[in-house]
Amino acid sequence: SVSRADRFTESVIREMTRLSLQYGAVNLAQGFPDFPCPDELKAAACQAINADINQYAITWGAPELREELSRRVKAYNGMEFDPATGVTVTCGSTEAMLASLMAVIRPGEEVVVPEPFYENYGPDTILSGAVPRYVSLGDDFSIDEEAWKEAFSKKTRAVVINTPNNPTGKVFSKKELSFIADLCVENNAIAITDEIYEHILYDRKKHVSIGSLPEMQDRTITLGSFSKTYSVTGWRVGYALAHPELTGRIRKIHDFLTVGAPAPLQQACAAALRLPESYYRELAESYDRKRRILFAGLKKAGFSCTLPEGAYYIFTDISEFGKTDVEFARHLVQTAGVAAVPGSSFYHTGGETKLRFTFSKKDETLQEACRRLETIA
Ligand code: GLN
Repeated sequence: SVSRADRFTESVIREMTRLSLQYGAVNLAQGFPDFPCPDELKAAACQAINADINQYAITWGAPELREELSRRVKAYNGMEFDPATGVTVTCGSTEAMLASLMAVIRPGEEVVVPEPFYENYGPDTILSGAVPRYVSLGDDFSIDEEAWKEAFSKKTRAVVINTPNNPTGKVFSKKELSFIADLCVENNAIAITDEIYEHILYDRKKHVSIGSLPEMQDRTITLGSFSKTYSVTGWRVGYALAHPELTGRIRKIHDFLTVGAPAPLQQACAAALRLPESYYRELAESYDRKRRILFAGLKKAGFSCTLPEGAYYIFTDISEFGKTDVEFARHLVQTAGVAAVPGSSFYHTGGETKLRFTFSKKDETLQEACRRLETIA
């Protein structure tokens, strides 16, 4: 037998960042901002450190933060969680996903994963002992109801949802989520939903949390994070919201995995949740502008793509260029000086005709990337 670490490769997303640094490329591979986070967050973090909030927080999260989260989730996501029994603060949604899967999976149980999927979910299923059942979102990223029905069975323990979606930019509609919710209820399965991009939406799209649908609150684990909404990916603060019984199990795993998320930064994240509503509107507007800059540049350079509905990635088709995703990604870094992520990172098999670009960058960075991409046409 092989160790679990031998059953998956290192992250291609982070490998592309290293390659990008090596070639002095514009990094449109890893999804993190190259612009600063809000001043309010920096001030609150410094203040917490100066106030000597530098020792462990309570393992499942600072009370102030859990209270602010509970309030915010009620208002934005339409779900009620008691901060004492339903909210767990984690080291990013990365830890929240792994801890949630480890908390609910009995080895050998199946987890339905829509494909393409965020790279981490592959290793996450292996580490938790789950057997993944991939269900294709197809070329138009739609829900093929027959395929989804076939993927679910009595062996299904959970389904992993990610909306707005990385890498496709799909925003799951209420109708689609209701269909998935019915499958969860019929098969007594749990929805584990990664909603890290919940505030990054375009064209008046609305975010729907599957946990807010009828009969779903008790069988959903909702994951979120401060990383993308407040541009603090390096802080590593995320959370898991779940029924007390599920929360109890998530907290046990979380405690032994990490003890807790950084204490002073949890204070700053509580301050983030007190920002005015205008903050979220401006965030979405600014990403809408960035989305259009990159989209125009990619089109001009000959990529075939559509505008994403949410999140901050454009998933392109590269069939026209006559190279596989890995070859083409390498070629782009070395010759044009732009880094992107090979599509196969988001599939268990396939994806060789795709390439993912992020637009979570300053307008100038995106403009420079577009100029460089023109050289490949
Ligand atoms: N979620 C981001 C992406 O998909 C960052 C991944 C990571 O390195 N944690 O690029």
